[in-house]
Amino acid sequence: MTESTLVIGLVLPDVMGTYGDGGNALVLRQRARLRGIDAEVLPITLADPVPATCDIYTLGGAEDYAQRLATRHLTQYPGMQEAAGRGAPVLAICAAIQVLGHWYETSEGERVDGISLFDLTTTPQATRSIGEIEGVPLVDGLTQPLTGFENHRGGSALGPDAAPLMRVVRGTGNGAGSPVDGVVQGSVLGTYMHGPALARNPELADLLLSRATGRSLEPLDLPDVELLRRERLRK
Ligand code: GLN
Repeated sequence: MTESTLVIGLVLPDVMGTYGDGGNALVLRQRARLRGIDAEVLPITLADPVPATCDIYTLGGAEDYAQRLATRHLTQYPGMQEAAGRGAPVLAICAAIQVLGHWYETSEGERVDGISLFDLTTTPQATRSIGEIEGVPLVDGLTQPLTGFENHRGGSALGPDAAPLMRVVRGTGNGAGSPVDGVVQGSVLGTYMHGPALARNPELADLLLSRATGRSLEPLDLPDVELLRRERLRK
């Protein structure tokens, strides 16, 4: 790695990475490299302090106990929160949304404090939401429908400082009585879409990359990726 390398922090892949969410970091690296940007993935495990120096951070989903381990580690080493405070993009998938909120209730009904990067709270829904999810983006810079796979029991209610990522047209998303998915707060973005989300939604990957690099990126002409994206949106 050199000083100009774009460093993508893959946060706690040892405990948070259901459904290959770590692939989001690989997609970011690949789409950066295709534009001639030198990029590397830095795995940050439970054995490592979380550095504040990454250019972008990604976290995946997980079960209750793994969430607890992640919450404890991120509280002990608040490097990612520090980076988010200076505007570094963070992508949080599923359980990571819950960990980044104020608190979440486990399926046993126990309330666990999160790290409050998101103004939201999470409680178990009556039923688990499993299946394809699709929505219309509500964020400037995104024009294409967003798609992924969701599997979660928790439902997240957004507070006034948090905005949703998309209006859901198929699936559940955040639940909690609201037909929206995900959360956007400053440079931190979350979604219930697994998939990995960025493999299915290249426009979202490029939005994060352009924020991380501070420049607009030329479009990539990848017909196979585009074809795959369209197929996944087919009902
Ligand atoms: N344990 C959380 C829930 O069920 C998150 C699950 C996940 O990340 N897939 O709500």
